[in-house]
Parts: sequence; structure tokens; C-alpha cells
Amino acid sequence: MSLEVSQKISVEKIAKSKIDQVDFNELPFGQIYSDHMLVCDYEDGKWQLPKIVPYQNISLDPSAKIFHYGQSVFEGMKAYKDEQDDIWLFRPLDNQKRLNISAKRLAMPELPESYFMEGLEALLLLEKDWIPTTKNSSLYIRPFIFASGNGFHASPSDKYKFIIACSPSGPYFGGELKVLIEQKYSRSANGGVGYAKAGGNYAGQFYPTNLAIQKGYHQVIWTDDTTHENIEEAGAMNIFIRIGDTLITAPTSDRILDGITRKSIIKIAKDQGIAVEIRNISVHEIVEAHNNGILKEMFGAGTAAVISPIDAFGYQDKDYMLPKMEDSYANKLKKQITDIQYNKSEDKFGWRYGVK
Ligand SMILES: *Cc1c(COP(=O)(O)O)cnc(C)c1O
Repeated sequence: MSLEVSQKISVEKIAKSKIDQVDFNELPFGQIYSDHMLVCDYEDGKWQLPKIVPYQNISLDPSAKIFHYGQSVFEGMKAYKDEQDDIWLFRPLDNQKRLNISAKRLAMPELPESYFMEGLEALLLLEKDWIPTTKNSSLYIRPFIFASGNGFHASPSDKYKFIIACSPSGPYFGGELKVLIEQKYSRSANGGVGYAKAGGNYAGQFYPTNLAIQKGYHQVIWTDDTTHENIEEAGAMNIFIRIGDTLITAPTSDRILDGITRKSIIKIAKDQGIAVEIRNISVHEIVEAHNNGILKEMFGAGTAAVISPIDAFGYQDKDYMLPKMEDSYANKLKKQITDIQYNKSEDKFGWRYGVK
């Protein structure tokens, strides 16, 4: 860790840790929070020095712009602990850069790299004991920026808060995943904010997702907003489709989040000699492949769930089952990416980042 900012980060420690109350063998996802958080305020036109304080409520004026105009962006990352108790992050600078890409789109101030990285590392070193070592668990990290300035005027805030909170977490999904290919609603549009990790993108997804849940599905597969013919994302994950032995995923665009898991999977798959095509893929092509018996797999990819195999999809009032595969690409790629993340294999792409 460089010492540009970290020496100046003030630390207020919690009086008594809550860690004894946590059962690390039964961790839910994102519902338990560690003892401390990092807070950094944007005021007077610049980011002030970050502070580490006990995890606590935030007090805001009812006119705070976050409540009215939704200026809010976030990231999702994980910290992993290996058998030597060393702490690892996975491509954290990509999260740092993407947070700023999102912030810029929402007219929010970008955060210097040193504030993000040194703040994160200082927090993780303090919260070291909160990083689970139980299988399939990790410390989920949620960095976010929101508008904390006041006023009902519809204009960007003059004050913001950057916070990093941590949550020791188990797996994101359990059980089977049945998805509905969306034919009416859209997650994002050309010229919009779909490529940003903006809170409002999720708010807009909940209603159509609830409608799908009422019909017996778990998630929505987003299609393009103009024709609803091309497959774009799986809920809050990028999507991969295997036809024959070729893995296909949509190209990133204004409408699609440039996922770090997605681009890592593309790299690993190609390295393994798997044919990967980055191109538009239509519902029609998928249904036809299914009818011809060559649709082998569909899976979602993202930090929280890593890889989530899809068991079935619904389209125009009909359900299509995917075959159960012994040696699926999903299982193989999931093992390879998590082995890198947990420091169980060689890191030939230089993705691991040690926190010391
Ligand atoms: C966060 C997110 C992803 C996955 O990105 P990762 O960097 O792999 O975690 C995919 N789609 C959407 C809409 C997201 O918000």
C-alpha cells in the first residue's frame, strides 16, 4: 500500500466487536455487516480525507438529493482469504475505474484512485477477521457514492458521500434458476445509463422482475429495448449462452454493464481453447438451437453469484428446459475463476491483488 492517503486516514474503532454474534457457517448474502466502514465526504468542490468509523446509520436532511433525483452509483467486489490467511482482491482497479465511469454519467464527482484503493485496503486490514474462510464464502464489499447535498431544485448535488461497507457473505443464489425472456419492459436504452452501476437501474428492474416471479420465474432475461429480440443481460448479471461448443455473449454497449466477471470468463474460456463469440444473439436463434438439440447451457455471470447456471427459460408462454450437464462450461469456468480468486491456482493474467 502506498502512503499517499493511508497515513492520513483517521480511524475510530468500535467499542466492542459484533463478530462473536456471527455464525460463519451459515452466512446469508449481504445481510450482516462488519464492525467498521469507510466514509469520505465531497464538500467545497473536493473530496475530503477518508475516515474509518464504526458501522452506523447516516443522518440526512429530507431534501437530500439522493431521495429525489437518485444520484447514486455503486460497486460490488469481494475479498477472499487463502489458507495462509492472506487477503486477496480480484481486479479491484477495474471496479475503481468503473465507479468513476458511473459517477461521471450521473454528473457526480469522480473519486481519486488513491482514495478508493488506500481507503479500501486500510478498511480490509482492520476488518481482516470478518473475511470468511468457510467454503463458497467471502467478504462482499459495497463501495458507493450518493448525493448528500440538500435542495428540491432538480440539479446535481454540491455534496456527496463515498462509503465502503463490508458484509461477510455466503452464496448469492441457491437452488434452480428459471428465467423469463422479457418481451415488454426494458432495463436500459441507447443513450441511457444502462452501462453505469446506478441505483436507479435496479429500481426500474424490480417491477418487471416481480411480474416474472408471480408467473413462477426467478429472474428476467433483458432483451434490447427496440426489438426485444436480442438477449442482453440476466437480471443483474451478464449472460452467456452455449450453442454446440461455442460460448456466446452480447457485446457491451450503452445498454449493457461491462462486467468484470464477464470479461474474465471470456479470457479464461479462450485460453482453454473454447470458441467464444461476442455478438448479438437473438431469442429466435436460442429457441431454434433448443429445438435442434444444440442449446447446451445458459448462465449468468457477476461478482455476487460468480456463475449461475440457468435451468429453464420461458418465452411467449412456453418453457424450455436446458439439459443437465456433467462437465458444463459453467462448472469448469466457475472453478477456474474462483481458484484464481481464492489463491488456489496460478494467476497467469495478473488479476489477483494482495492486501498487505
Ligand atoms: C454488476 C453488474 C454485472 C456484473 O458485473 P461484475 O463486474 O462482473 O460484478 C452485470 N450486469 C449488471 C446490470 C450489473 O449491475
